[in-house]
Parts: sequence; C-alpha cells; structure tokens
Amino acid sequence: RAKRDGRNGLRFYAPEMQKHSERALSLATALKNAIASQELALAFQPQMDISHRRMIGAEALLRWRHPERGFVSPAEFIPLAEQNGLIVSIGWWVIDRVLEQLVALRAAGRDNISIAVNVSAAQLVQPDFVTELQARVHASGVPAQAIDIELTESVAMVNPEDTGEKMAALSAAGFRISIDDFGTGYSSMSYLKRFAIDKIKIDKSFVDEVTHKHEDKTIVNAIIHMARSLGMRTIAEGVETEEQFETLRRKGCDAIQGYWYSRPLLGEDFSAFVRAHT
Ligand code: C2E
Ligand code: MG
Ligand code: MG
Ligand code: MG
Repeated sequence: RAKRDGRNGLRFYAPEMQKHSERALSLATALKNAIASQELALAFQPQMDISHRRMIGAEALLRWRHPERGFVSPAEFIPLAEQNGLIVSIGWWVIDRVLEQLVALRAAGRDNISIAVNVSAAQLVQPDFVTELQARVHASGVPAQAIDIELTESVAMVNPEDTGEKMAALSAAGFRISIDDFGTGYSSMSYLKRFAIDKIKIDKSFVDEVTHKHEDKTIVNAIIHMARSLGMRTIAEGVETEEQFETLRRKGCDAIQGYWYSRPLLGEDFSAFVRAHT
C-alpha cells in the first residue's frame, strides 16, 4: 500500500513492498513443509437451506498454523501456493480430508450432507485432474453427488475451452459445480450458458448491505432471478445477521452460509454441530 503523502510518498513504498515480499517468500518456503509437519487443518462451515432451516452441507476451508507465526489466512497463503504450484499437492490433501469427512458423516447416517471444495485454476488445468478426482472418490465409496466443486469466475476465464471440457466431465461424473464469489470477477456471463453449473454463490460483498442498500438489493434480486431462470440454485455467503437471512429468504435465495448460522468449525466442533442440527 503506497502512502499518498506528497513527494515523500515513494520513500515509504519501497521498504513496505520489500517487507511484504520477504514475508511472502518465507511463507511460501514454510508452506512446502506444512503438509508433512501436520500444520494444515480443514475447517468446515455449515450451509443451511433457507426455507426448511436445515443443514444441507458445509464448505471445506483450509487452516494453516505456522509454527512461529501462528494462523496464516488462506487469503494470504493460497495465492502463494497457486504461484509456486504447491496448491496441486495441497489440493489433493484437501480432497482426501473431505472424503474422510464424508465417509464419517455417512457412517453416522448423515448421507444428505454435501461438502463444497474450493478448486484453483492451477489444480483444474492439470490434465489428470478429473480422472484423479474420480479415482479417489471412487476408492472412498462416496458418491460424486456429495461433492460440490467451487470455482471462481476467474478460473472459468483462465482457459475457457479447457475449463469448459473439465466442467462437462465433472458434471457427467456426477459432481456438482458452484460458481464462487459470483459477481466480483472480470468475466463475461456467457460461461453461464456454456458450462454445466448447478449453483451460484452470491458474494459476501453484496450480502453485507443487502438489507438497506438499493444497489445491493437490486443486484441480489437480479442474481437470484437469473439463476432461477437458468435452472441454477443460489447460496449467499457471509450472512452475519438474522435481518440478512430474512431479506434473502424473502427474495427467494435457496441457501445461506455465514457467521450467523456458524463459523467454520474444526474437528469435533463440526461433528457436534452436525449432531445438533441434523
Ligand atoms: P471463499 O471460498 O469465498 O470462502 C469464504 C470465506 O468467507 C472464508 O474465508 C470464510 O471463513 C469467510 N466467511 C464465511 N462466512 C463469513 C461471515 O459471515 N463473515 C465473514 N466476515 N467472513 C465469512 P477463509 O476461510 O479465510 O478463506 C478465504 C479464501 O481462501 C476462500 O474464499 C477461498 O477462496 C480460499 N480457500 C480456502 N480454503 C481453500 C482450499 O482448500 N483450496 C483453495 N483453492 N482455496 C481455498
Ligand atoms: Mg469458496
Ligand atoms: Mg467471497
Ligand atoms: Mg466465496
């Protein structure tokens, strides 16, 4: 962040940039050992059906506890892992943990709960991504329908042809596909008709002021109506208050995810939430 304080501004800019890249470099290096050192964990954030107020699924969210720096946000380390390619092996680690979670849920009779997994462009472009995913899912005994693949609009735009083929293959194999952070990327909406999309995740930035800001209400209405006309479901992310939940319910949104229902939960906390809410 450049400080805009006149002629001296740049003096502050350079050292800050350097400090930032030193941290990025050291984090990227430390991340290489994170799996082996068991520093990664997967949190699960519950998702709720709006009309029945029932838990329908959860999103898997990575957590990294660095031995000295403590918790590092995925918003900081995922981009680093995408740059140096580590996201590919981390992504498989995530998929395996998700499958373990689904196996446990199903053993406990919770076979209607699906789990959403974030997949980066760098993972999706791997030529063997779909076949490898299918092999792991098949070996686990979990049906593909229980897995929701979350892709952002930018992923869909990186290599539209390859992405389109991969999405068609995922869909044919039974996986569900959601578009994450919808409305925030630079993209043409034409991918909505070309790709096999099941669900649109309405970005938190539209949810924040959906109760009172005209522009956000209008945008959320438009997304919900468009999704419905296209035969897709909608889930709003970052729902923090009952007022937001009520507004979204009245607008016909299908599901919500956010701190109001639950924060992302680790280990036994998630299992306890499932027991109490299903
Ligand atoms: P995302 O996929 O859009 O995930 C939603 C983010 O919003 C999560 O942040 C979640 O903790 C946060 N959130 C959910 N509800 C609320 C709320 O009510 N209020 C507020 N303030 N925040 C809320 P998180 O866990 O820090 O993850 C950030 C991003 O990192 C994710 O955004 C996703 O893009 C990425 N990410 C996380 N795990 C993975 C992963 O396993 N693989 C990949 N490729 N990316 C991941
Ligand atoms: Mg997501
Ligand atoms: Mg978002
Ligand atoms: Mg999101």
